[in-house]
Amino acid sequence: MSAPNSQYDPVEVTPLHPDELARMRDDAVAAIRAAADLTRLKQIKVEHTGDRSPLALANREIGALPPQARKDAGQRIGAVRKEVTHAIQARQEELEAERDARVLLEETVDVTLPWDRTPPGARHPLSTIQERVGDVFVSMGWEIAEGPEAEAEWLNFDALNIGPDHPARTMQDTFFVESEQSGVVLRTHTSPVQARTMLSRTPPIYVVCPGRTFRTDELDATHTPVFSQVEGLAVDEGITMAHLKGTLDHFASSMFGEGITTRLRPSYFPFTEPSAEMDLQCFVCRGASVGNPDRPCRTCSSEGWIEWGGCGMVNPRVLIACGIDPDRYTGFAFGMGLERTLMFRHGIADMHDMVEGDIRFTTAFGMEI
Ligand SMILES: [Zn+2]
Repeated sequence: MSAPNSQYDPVEVTPLHPDELARMRDDAVAAIRAAADLTRLKQIKVEHTGDRSPLALANREIGALPPQARKDAGQRIGAVRKEVTHAIQARQEELEAERDARVLLEETVDVTLPWDRTPPGARHPLSTIQERVGDVFVSMGWEIAEGPEAEAEWLNFDALNIGPDHPARTMQDTFFVESEQSGVVLRTHTSPVQARTMLSRTPPIYVVCPGRTFRTDELDATHTPVFSQVEGLAVDEGITMAHLKGTLDHFASSMFGEGITTRLRPSYFPFTEPSAEMDLQCFVCRGASVGNPDRPCRTCSSEGWIEWGGCGMVNPRVLIACGIDPDRYTGFAFGMGLERTLMFRHGIADMHDMVEGDIRFTTAFGMEI
């Protein structure tokens, strides 16, 4: 056996040459710094520090060196391996920080999403205007009266002086419940509530009757088969048309603004005598658009007045039918459509909006009470 070559110069073993080791280190560090992600860095780690890496192969050469040369060579390789390991650690920390930041961004939970999935509702404006009308009259000491929507034909027509031959009784206008002979109709107006009130009470009577009514109309921009009315009835001693006019003027200004008045035009209704159509002074232009082309008014078509409803003195025949002495008592009555009133107040152009139940329509009116 020969002893190790004590003359062997480790510098001359190529893999252990400082320049060669420096090249290995530079290659490794450059590759580590260029690693784009943690997977690539793992591969590079194996390539440059694994069992088959140039550094590991160089390390094996140490065994062939004479003992006195092994220490230097070992230190040189150890120093290089340390630098490479540090470079790997540094790059690994960088890449892990990048990954964590990316994961935080990609897996963000948006806690600002709306948690309240049940938006607040709003009352239908027809309900609120109905209550507002009720308030106007209750504040004057009147009462609110109600009645059934499926009504006796006699109360809906006969008691109100609408005889059997009256055109309003035909199938064209009236929804009959079951057969036409059933004697029960869906009330075509709120007037039967007035008849019920007069039949069940003795004057003085001051009531308003808001409620739903039915007629066989097709739904279009200005008609609906189901609509709402409000009627008023006053029966007392000494009631005159002046009381009717004063009440309507107060009602008009309560609904549409201070100073708005009404105008009566002669008309005919079976249940009132005399009867009148009731016009409302235009609450937008207050008549200033009449004969004034420079200030046209869309609300009243520059006429200064808007048709609002019907009214009159209670026909004595109605009083008699309801058991009230017409020689002692007189009364007035009026009625108007709530949809029409609502259209005026809020500039609603189409009846469909009021009956289709679209929440976007009602929420626009909020929770007005
Ligand atoms: Zn006007």
